[in-house]
Amino acid sequence: MAKLSVRDVEVAGKRVLVREDFNVPLDEHGKVVDITRLEAALPTIKYLYEEGARIILVSHLGRPKGKVVQRLRMDPVARELSRLLGRPVEKLDSCVGPDVEQAVRELNPGDIILLENVRFDPREEKNDSEFALSLARLADLFVNDAFGAAHREHASTAGVARYLPAVAGDLLVQELKMLDLAVNDPERPFAAIIGGAKVSDKIGVITNLLQRVDYLLVGGGLANTFLLAQGHEIGSSLHERDLVAIARQMMKEAETTARAELLLPVDVVVAEEVKAGANAQVVAVEDIPPGWMVVDIGPRTQEAFADVIARCRTVVWNGPMGVFEIPSFAVGTRAIAESMAATDAVTIVGGGESAAAVHQAGLADRMRHVSTGGGASLEYLEGKLLPGIACLREKE
Ligand code: ADP
Ligand code: MG
Repeated sequence: MAKLSVRDVEVAGKRVLVREDFNVPLDEHGKVVDITRLEAALPTIKYLYEEGARIILVSHLGRPKGKVVQRLRMDPVARELSRLLGRPVEKLDSCVGPDVEQAVRELNPGDIILLENVRFDPREEKNDSEFALSLARLADLFVNDAFGAAHREHASTAGVARYLPAVAGDLLVQELKMLDLAVNDPERPFAAIIGGAKVSDKIGVITNLLQRVDYLLVGGGLANTFLLAQGHEIGSSLHERDLVAIARQMMKEAETTARAELLLPVDVVVAEEVKAGANAQVVAVEDIPPGWMVVDIGPRTQEAFADVIARCRTVVWNGPMGVFEIPSFAVGTRAIAESMAATDAVTIVGGGESAAAVHQAGLADRMRHVSTGGGASLEYLEGKLLPGIACLREKE
C-alpha cells in the first residue's frame, strides 16, 4: 500500500505545509551541531520551490512541553537551512494566528517560510483539532516529510491531514521503501542486530523480528537480562530483573517456533565503573566477576556476529553493542558498523544512538540506509502502523 507522494500531485502555485523533522542537536551557543536531518529534508524543499510552490515549513525542536523556551526557537535552524539551500528562509515567531496568515498571503511562488517551534503550543502534542485546523487553513496541501516524528499522533504530524489532502515527502517515501523492504520483503538470509540499553524498550521489536529474520543477534545492555535468563551471574551490570522471564520465553521461542536463530554474547568487556579510564577486561559470559559491569561485547562475540553479517543479504541494526559514548567501550559497536560497511547486502541502521554511532565511525555513507528516525524506525520494525503515515493518502 504505497502512499501518494509530493511528486504525484500538482504543487505549482499552491501553498504547501511541510512537516519536517528539524529536531537537530544544538550546542550551548545555540548552533546546529549535526545537519544530517536538515540535509535529508532538502530534496523535497528543492522540488517544491523548483515547481513554484509557496512553502510553509513546520517542525518541533527539543521538548519545550507546550511553552515558549527561548533556546528552542527555530532561528538557528532557519539560518542553517538557508545556508544549505542557498536561498532565504524567513522564520516566523509563531505557528498560527494573524501574523502567520499575513506572511503566508505575501508568499510568492518559490518562497520559503519556517514557522516557530510547533511544540511551543500545548495543543500540538494533544492533537487538538482547533489547532490542527488553524495550521491546515494556512495551506492547500500537506506534505509529511518528518519520518522521525511519524510515530507521534500530534496536530502537525497527523491532525492536519483531517483537513487537507496529505501526501508523503521524498524522505518519508525513502524511509518507508527501505524499512518496508526489510520488514516485508527481505532478501535472505536476513539478520537483525538489536542492542541498546533496555529490554523493555525493545520487547516489541524483538518479538516481531523473531518471526521474520533468520538470525537475531542481541548485544548491548539489554543482553544482560538474557544472560541472567541463561543463569549467568552479571555482577553490577544494567539489567531488568522483572523481564528475565520474558527474555527466557523469547529464547525458548527462538529454539522452538520462531524462524530466527538467536545469538547472545559469549564474551563481554566488563569494567569496574562505567567511565573513561576505568579498569576493564574481557571475560567469558560464565566468568563475570562480582561487582563488575558489562560495558561491551567481547572479541569472540564480535567475530560470531561478523560471520553472520557476512553471510546475510539483508541486515538491520538497532541499538549499540556497548556504552559507545566512552571510546574504549565503543569497540564492539564499531566492529558491527565495520562488518555492515564491508558487505554489499542491504544494510539498514535505525535508532537514534545507533545512527549516531555509525556517523561517529564515519561509516554512514557505507550503509544502504541510515534512518533519520529513532523511535519511529523502532516502531516500524515492531510492525506498528505509524499515525503520521497512516493519515496520508494511498496511491490509486
Ligand atoms: P537506539 O537509540 O539506537 O535505539 P538505545 O536508546 O536503545 O539505542 O540505547 C542506547 C544506549 O544504550 C547508549 O546510550 C548506550 O550507552 C547504552 N548501552 C549499550 N550497552 C550498554 C551496557 N552494556 N550497559 C549500559 N548501557 C549500555
Ligand atoms: Mg535511543
